[in-house]
Amino acid sequence: MSEQHSRSAATIAAQALHIINEETGGVVPGIELATTFARDDSYEFRSEFGYSRDSNPTTRNAEKIIKALSGAEDALVFNSGMSAISTVYETLRPGQHVVAPIIMYHGAQHWLQHLEKTRGIELTLFDQTKQGALKEAIKPGKTELVWIESPVNPTWDVIDIAEAADLAHEAGATLGLDTTVAPPCTTDAFALGADIVFQSATKYLGGHSDLTGGVLTTAKNDDRWQEIQYVRKHLGGILQPFEAWLLIRGIRTLFVRFERASQNAMALARHFENHPKVERALYPGLENYPGHEIAARQMTNGFGGMMSLLIKGDEAEARATAAACRVFMPATSLGGVESLIEHRKTVEGPDSAVPDNLLRLSVGIEGEQDLIADIEQALGQKPSVDPRALRADVR
Ligand SMILES: *Cc1c(COP(=O)(O)O)cnc(C)c1O
Repeated sequence: MSEQHSRSAATIAAQALHIINEETGGVVPGIELATTFARDDSYEFRSEFGYSRDSNPTTRNAEKIIKALSGAEDALVFNSGMSAISTVYETLRPGQHVVAPIIMYHGAQHWLQHLEKTRGIELTLFDQTKQGALKEAIKPGKTELVWIESPVNPTWDVIDIAEAADLAHEAGATLGLDTTVAPPCTTDAFALGADIVFQSATKYLGGHSDLTGGVLTTAKNDDRWQEIQYVRKHLGGILQPFEAWLLIRGIRTLFVRFERASQNAMALARHFENHPKVERALYPGLENYPGHEIAARQMTNGFGGMMSLLIKGDEAEARATAAACRVFMPATSLGGVESLIEHRKTVEGPDSAVPDNLLRLSVGIEGEQDLIADIEQALGQKPSVDPRALRADVR
């Protein structure tokens, strides 16, 4: 992403394209709650809108903003991240082959495995830590979709997006990229060669843990994109107007939230990477992290707030550490202004490939020292500050 592009994306986000309430001059758009739109005397719709399951003015505003700030050809918003992902998978035909990493968002992987059983889609999971594994997994002429995320959740292994795009395209496949943890404020997915880009709007785009939504953007308005639009309309997966409005509001602060979360996560990763009670800090922002150089090329405006700690200890000790946190809240999800922690394996279930001693941290925008002190005390260190006092402290 060039500096110019990054500046203009920041401006687009902050100003939300200056979409105002045309009737009143209000500097933020209103919410259009209507489910249906009146026809004129000749029975034509008065605007581009007819029925809210197809499209709605507030929802379309969110799409226009996301399209502009991502440099996409088009954008569609859905009522959850999984609704957006499953809509892409709905375009796959029996016998077509899909390639995805072993470690990835577990819900999306479970759904691919479900489609393998029920719809005759072929699936190959590749080891994202092994050089050459993706190339080996792709079957030229047969692979229809390569679906990746980078960094992968929750070990933050870095997949080279540009290389994956080349490999997919050489084989005649589409590259689908989940950029939930590396949103367009830091990753210029289309410049790296992605064809379809997905984000859970529940995470960084919304940013306040108060809306469930998903976003697809596309490099081209091609047949697959047309089908995605058709599927959204028929499965009814569109984002509702109030959530679309919350999404627009969230996007306005995306850049500053992401930058602050990135700074906090970097401080935590540096503090805990050589800690006596920590085996490893997993964070692509660390210079010695495998794939750091690729991450630095792909994430040009911060490495984000997502990191994990492999603690010295077993599953029980990892869970006890998460439970002892007082500033980090034990909860699923990520990308909100408040920091969350979870023992990921417990959440994903016994067949999960995630290590037993891994704690996933979604680092928010709180004071850096409070976050560090909280993990310190939870790891059984003498707390430098009483974390209960921190909680009451309004910062
Ligand atoms: C949360 C998440 C999803 C799914 O999004 P929902 O909004 O929960 O449906 C997909 N991919 C990643 C990386 C996520 O973190």
